[in-house]
Amino acid sequence: MINVTKAFLPPLEEYKKYLDGIWDRVHLTNHGPLVLELEEKLKNYLGVKYFYFLSNGTIALQLAIKALDLKGEIITTPFSYVATTSSIVWENAKPVFVDIDPSTFTIDPSRIEAAITEQTSAILATHVYGIPCDVDAIADIARKYNLKVVYDAAHAFGVAHKGIPLLNYGDISTLSFHATKLFHTVEGGGIATNDEELAHKISYMRNFGHNGQEEFWGVGINGKNSEFHAAMGLSNFPYIDSNLDRRKGLSQLYSQWISQFGVSVERPAIAEHVSYNYAYYPVLFSTEEQLIKVRDALVASEIYPRRYFYPSLNTLPYVDNEPMFVADSISRRVMCLPLYYDLPQEETKRICSIIAAVLKF
Ligand SMILES: *Cc1c(COP(=O)(O)O)cnc(C)c1O
Repeated sequence: MINVTKAFLPPLEEYKKYLDGIWDRVHLTNHGPLVLELEEKLKNYLGVKYFYFLSNGTIALQLAIKALDLKGEIITTPFSYVATTSSIVWENAKPVFVDIDPSTFTIDPSRIEAAITEQTSAILATHVYGIPCDVDAIADIARKYNLKVVYDAAHAFGVAHKGIPLLNYGDISTLSFHATKLFHTVEGGGIATNDEELAHKISYMRNFGHNGQEEFWGVGINGKNSEFHAAMGLSNFPYIDSNLDRRKGLSQLYSQWISQFGVSVERPAIAEHVSYNYAYYPVLFSTEEQLIKVRDALVASEIYPRRYFYPSLNTLPYVDNEPMFVADSISRRVMCLPLYYDLPQEETKRICSIIAAVLKF
């Protein structure tokens, strides 16, 4: 069976070494040495000034909204995982959707200004599949209208844009280290910012607001993560670059077979100036019927691609459903092919030949 993804696990002895230390110290959570070590390593690897390891990527989004005190309307993308939208609603703000760019599948900055009202407090956009949003255009709009910018960078681990680590754009970026993600800690997430004041706020907000044992800076929640999760992150850390290389090679093989077999699918555009992380391999079909036929044929061969991301988030039952022409269309026609560190190379050929056979009819 081949799934869309498979979690990387480090050699068990390497994880066990960290467990030995935990057993010696009996320090299980609350900013233990492994959490601090992982935060330091990730801060350097990701190239940001402040970085906090959190319990998951959803709490990271909620903390970002809280730390920036976002109210009213938040302009956002309809093409992402549901947590991008649900976090806005959960924090009592209103998601206002702006359609996506048909070439990059990220929020279309040329449509943002028309959606801004007196109530707009921020733009929360996703670097979907690890493809950067048009961060320069978004920064210009945010400056002009005095809006905050949050990036859901759950897919953007290690991506650079014009030579700058992508997480440096916007006021805050959030990450997910869920088991299905490129770099994982089983469950986990992170929040990055270059702003000292915001960093301070995030650091106490993720720990109940504590300022020492008996005083409080302000309201907080439990967004911390444990030594066991940090141990998984530290064990996975040395394998990041080799995993990225494997994924790059597999992605190139997919592209090669697609062109060799003359498979008529489109791919989102990744600009020259992007150093990409090969987090996903999405393909766009001409119609939803084609997608379903292809999926059924793959499933019959025990290959399980995923419809990342369907449905379009503007159709969720708890938001105002405004039609989004591009996102509605793309989300019906896009699917991610299996991509993980030890997917056998020959499977890329088999998968592409199955797709080619279906599309010939
Ligand atoms: C995975 C994901 C999240 C949520 O992260 P969790 O760690 O699972 O809470 C948020 N946004 C996007 C775009 C994601 O893919």
